Amino acid sequence: MRILVTGGAGFLGSNLCERLVKDPGNYVYCLDNLQTGRIENIRELMEFPNFEFIQHDIVEPIELTVDQIYNAACPASPPAYQADPVHTMKTSVFGMLNMLELARKHNATVLQFSTSEVYGDAQVHPQPEAYWGNVNPDGIRSCYDEGKRAAETLCFDYHRQYGVKIKVIRIFNTYGPKMDPNDGRVISNFVNQALRGEDLTVYGDGKQTRSFCYVDDLIEGIYRMMNSSDDVTGPVNLGNPGEFTMLELAEEVLRQTGSRSKLVHKELPKDDPKQRRPDITKAKQLLDWEPKVALREGLANTIEYYRGLMERA
Ligand code: UDP
Repeated sequence: MRILVTGGAGFLGSNLCERLVKDPGNYVYCLDNLQTGRIENIRELMEFPNFEFIQHDIVEPIELTVDQIYNAACPASPPAYQADPVHTMKTSVFGMLNMLELARKHNATVLQFSTSEVYGDAQVHPQPEAYWGNVNPDGIRSCYDEGKRAAETLCFDYHRQYGVKIKVIRIFNTYGPKMDPNDGRVISNFVNQALRGEDLTVYGDGKQTRSFCYVDDLIEGIYRMMNSSDDVTGPVNLGNPGEFTMLELAEEVLRQTGSRSKLVHKELPKDDPKQRRPDITKAKQLLDWEPKVALREGLANTIEYYRGLMERA
């Protein structure tokens, strides 16, 4: 199997490459423009003879002969995708077009890494796939949310119009080793702040909720989706339905790190969704998948990873 992973040096992409490369029957092309991906994430994978890193931006077309394409390329944390919003939109739309054309040419399957952000500030809770969402088209999150929505549309149109094999997953908040400590997301921020003895930055009153999925669970779900039968196109939600407020998360991080850091409240970013939790009924039925790692356990592994990074630095 010749497999392309775009965004392969990023948090999810590199965890996925690690899994795929361990099967000697696979040849893995890891594509990344290193905008937010890090060589550090794939350094050990470079030792594998069936792994190849190509520095490339998927906004530009590329020619590779492949059987499967995991399209994970796109900055995903709010500060990262808002730093160059026009390029974020291009990554989702032009990147998706380029990957769908490649799949069409080689009769490959494309799995699109979509996002719970397509639901926006959801008014249905928890969010099933059938919910169309509540997204601001003109706000600071729109480049990401609307870009990912357009990418989904392209997938389904290529499927209907040209018969391209597609799979769309909607990923809810995920955390774990290989997430950039400076990513800006809440778990990487809280853990690194706690380990450095700095104040934990709680945005707003901290009563907004998120559901956090440990990366190993997510990768298993993604793998099952890619290898499901061709009629399973999705969209399928993947995430952990356990729901926590940011205050509860902060307390757990302080407890596990033994840190004496304090909480400081900062302004809530614009368009920050108030609550988010996946309805994973479809993933259970279609993929026989559900997360196994509780937040407490996943946090412990994540804390260990960031401690290791700090010690090496
Ligand atoms: N958040 C926070 N402190 C931080 C970073 C984020 O309180 O240092 C909040 C943020 O406002 C949001 C939640 O944590 O309500 C999750 O944010 P994140 O950026 O991790 O992901 P999002 O789900 O917003 O894409």
